[in-house]
Amino acid sequence: MNISDREAAYFFHTYKRIPLEIDRGEGVYLWTKDGKQFLDLFGGLAVNALGYAHPGVLSAINEQAKRYIHLSNYFLQEPQIRLGELIIKHSGFKRVFLTNSGTEAIEGALKLARKWGKKHGKNEFVAFSNAFHGRTMGALSLMDREKYKDGYEPFLPNCYVVQHNDVEALRKTVNDKTAAVLLECIQGEGGIRPASADLVKELVQLKKEHGFLLIADEIQSGLGRTGKFFGFEHFDLKPDIVTVAKPIGGGLPLGGFLGNEEVAEVLSPGVHGTTFGGNPVACAAGCVVMQELFDNKLMQHAGMMGEYFKSKLLELKLEFPSLVKEVRGFGLMLGMELTREGETIVSTLRDRGILLNCTDVTVLRFLPPLIIKKEHIDYGVKELRSVLALQG
Ligand code: PLP
Repeated sequence: MNISDREAAYFFHTYKRIPLEIDRGEGVYLWTKDGKQFLDLFGGLAVNALGYAHPGVLSAINEQAKRYIHLSNYFLQEPQIRLGELIIKHSGFKRVFLTNSGTEAIEGALKLARKWGKKHGKNEFVAFSNAFHGRTMGALSLMDREKYKDGYEPFLPNCYVVQHNDVEALRKTVNDKTAAVLLECIQGEGGIRPASADLVKELVQLKKEHGFLLIADEIQSGLGRTGKFFGFEHFDLKPDIVTVAKPIGGGLPLGGFLGNEEVAEVLSPGVHGTTFGGNPVACAAGCVVMQELFDNKLMQHAGMMGEYFKSKLLELKLEFPSLVKEVRGFGLMLGMELTREGETIVSTLRDRGILLNCTDVTVLRFLPPLIIKKEHIDYGVKELRSVLALQG
């Protein structure tokens, strides 16, 4: 049996896998077993910020693995503390809890908001349509897309999803019982759709009126991807809780939620925990990610490359007005909305050695490693241009 048949035979059929057998990666490139090279504009779905085989990440993983790979959270673990310090220093938040994944960060953030809400007589959550917050039941309870939810009912009570960017609907839904509003400032999976200036203004106003917590889901947009540490820094917003994951472990499973002074003292020993969350090897790799972002100015680089990439995509919009509807995004979190389904373009580009993804049916999504350079962008855009020209 080939690898696809073996997967089909033994695994639950949850993933539509790309029909490539990757052998190795280096920098922004991947190679298949049969030696074909691919430029990765997909970045492991925004995880591989430092690309593949980053020497600093490899050495941090190796050094930490030699000391200990796991101890459990009963022990103080130096890489965890070091990463926590760096996150707090650069984020301005007060406290952090480390998880294994994005969806666990969301669950933790919701639990934190629930506990806080209990003290303040608030037990409702509000989120926005078309967002993606993960696959666990709490996250699903705050999403509206049938494709993720169908068959998993019943969901958590007191959860309300309002139309994205619908200011009126938001005003009608939040009240003094609202404990938290959960927002992806830039919806990733939902098609690189930013919150509107009106929504942000209304959120700030309603927060003042009703005193709820604002939870920013920065799992995709956070940690330098948009040229700033958090995506919400592009908006005039100050969340109380932030969730992070994806690039934070240098490719190893790691996530977390951060809280400001409002929620800093809500959690006490034993009320929340995890066996694997904050794994020391992942944290050691995470410290390298933080070092690259700040000391080696990778975040600024991502911002500059993002502007360049966006300007090139906007040129394509001018060249192909009947095919390209809109180009959106911040930094290296970019989307090109087409006037038709994008899957054929994705597979044609793959045949030409470029990897990217299509989300929300019509949106080509670009989440390349933050180490990408102009020459890679030029090459990717050249191929995209010739594939767009082939479309009738
Ligand atoms: N939130 C956002 C914005 C995401 O993009 C994702 C994953 O794509 C998640 C939450 C869930 O993260 P994970 O897949 O690590 O559970």
